[in-house]
Amino acid sequence: IKEFYTRDKTLQLRGTYIPNCTELFYRHSPLKIVRGQGTYMYDQLGNKYLDCINNVAHVGHCHPYVNKQIYRQMGACATNNRYLHDNTVVLAEKLSKTLPKSLQQIFYTNSGSEANDLAIRLARRFTGNYDILALDNAYHGHISTLVELSTYEYKKMKNPTKMPEHVHVIPTPDIYRGKYRDIDYNYDEAKLCELYVDEVRRIVEETESRGRRIALMFFETLQSCGGQIIYPNGYLKQTFDYLQSKGILCVADEVQTGFGRSGSHFWAYDSYEEGIIPDFVTLGKSMGNGFPVAALVTRKDITQKFESDGIEYFNTYGGNPVSCRAAIALLDVIENEHLQENAHKVGVYFLTKLKELQKQHDIIGDVRGRGLFLGIELVRDRKTREPATIETREIQLLLRENFIIISTDGPDHNVLKFKS
Ligand code: PMP
Repeated sequence: IKEFYTRDKTLQLRGTYIPNCTELFYRHSPLKIVRGQGTYMYDQLGNKYLDCINNVAHVGHCHPYVNKQIYRQMGACATNNRYLHDNTVVLAEKLSKTLPKSLQQIFYTNSGSEANDLAIRLARRFTGNYDILALDNAYHGHISTLVELSTYEYKKMKNPTKMPEHVHVIPTPDIYRGKYRDIDYNYDEAKLCELYVDEVRRIVEETESRGRRIALMFFETLQSCGGQIIYPNGYLKQTFDYLQSKGILCVADEVQTGFGRSGSHFWAYDSYEEGIIPDFVTLGKSMGNGFPVAALVTRKDITQKFESDGIEYFNTYGGNPVSCRAAIALLDVIENEHLQENAHKVGVYFLTKLKELQKQHDIIGDVRGRGLFLGIELVRDRKTREPATIETREIQLLLRENFIIISTDGPDHNVLKFKS
C-alpha cells in the first residue's frame, strides 16, 4: 500500500490538526497501520503485528465476506431507516433469536454511547424517575450523560468536576481487588456475592431515603476498562432480581463483551447463570466488524411509553441498510466459522497456560477470563497486592517490540488486557 504521507509527516500533521487529548496508542512512538488481515495488522514498513486488543475486528481484520457484503449494499442503496428495507428486519430477526423472548424491540444506533444514552432516555420516561446507578470504574461511553457516570473517566481527570447528584456509584464486585477481598478474610465467592449485593441494597435504600428516585442501573457484564473483572457468581442475578423488584431497570452493556466473545455464551450476561433477563441490552463495537453499527434492545412496554408520549425516534445513520448488512454478515460469519466455539476453546487453553505462568512468576497476581476476554493482573507483592503499574507498562512495550499489540487497563493500569 502506497503511503500518501510518510509516517513522520503523518505524525506531524496529526499533531497540528488532531487535538492532543485524542487518544493515541504508544504516544512516544505511535504506530502507523496501513493494512489489516485476520488477526494481524501491518505498518507502513510491512511489519506484521499480532492484534490482541482490536475487539472491533471481531471476525478478523478486513474479513472478505463482510467487506463484500458492505460493498455490495453500498452499491445498491444507502438510505435511512425511514424506508422499509429487508436488512432492517433480517438483522432484527437474527438478533432476537439470540435474546430473551421479552426483548424484541431494537433501536439501531451508530455507537455504544448512543445506545446507552437512549437507554437512559427510555428508562426515565418509563419509570418517571431520574437517577442512575453505575458500578465503580465503569465505562459506558464518551457522551455527556455517560461520562458523568463512568468513574473510570473521572479518575483520570486532574480537576474532575463534581459528580452529578443523580449518579450513585456502587462498589465493583471485584473478587481480587475490590472493597471485600478473598484473601484478607478468607471469603468464598458466595460470601463475596452476598456482601456486594448488600452494598447495592444499602446504596439504593440510602438514596431513596433522601427522596431520590432511581430509573436504571448500568452493568458492563464483564467490566472491561475497570480491569477485565468477572463478578462473583450469583451477583448479577441477585442484583437484577432486587433492582427489578423495585422497578429499577437494568442495562446489560454488551458493547465489549457480546457476539460470542465470552465463548460459552453469545451474550456475556448469560455466562454467569440462567434466568438473567435485562431490561435493556446495548450492543456495539464488534457488531459491524469495523463498520459503524450499534443497537439497543428492549421490551415492548418500554418502547410503547415513548410512543404514547408522542416521541418519535430518528437517527440519520442508525439502521441504514449498509450498517445492517454489515451486522448480518458478521452474524453469518460467527455462525459459519464456529467462532463462538473457537473463542471458548482458545480461551480455555489460553487461561490454562496463563495459570501455569502464574505458578512460575510471583508478579502475576491473578489471571481471569471468559473466552477471548482475558486479563493478567500484575502485582509487586502477592500479599499486599500492590499494583505493578510500571512493570505492566514495560511488558506492554516489550511485547510491542516483539510485534504483539496488547493494552493495559484497570484503575491502577496494572492489568494486561486481551480482547481478541
Ligand atoms: N460501553 C462499553 C462497555 C464500552 O467499552 C464502550 C467503548 N469503549 C462504550 C460503551 C461506548 O461505545 P462507543 O465508543 O461505540 O460509543
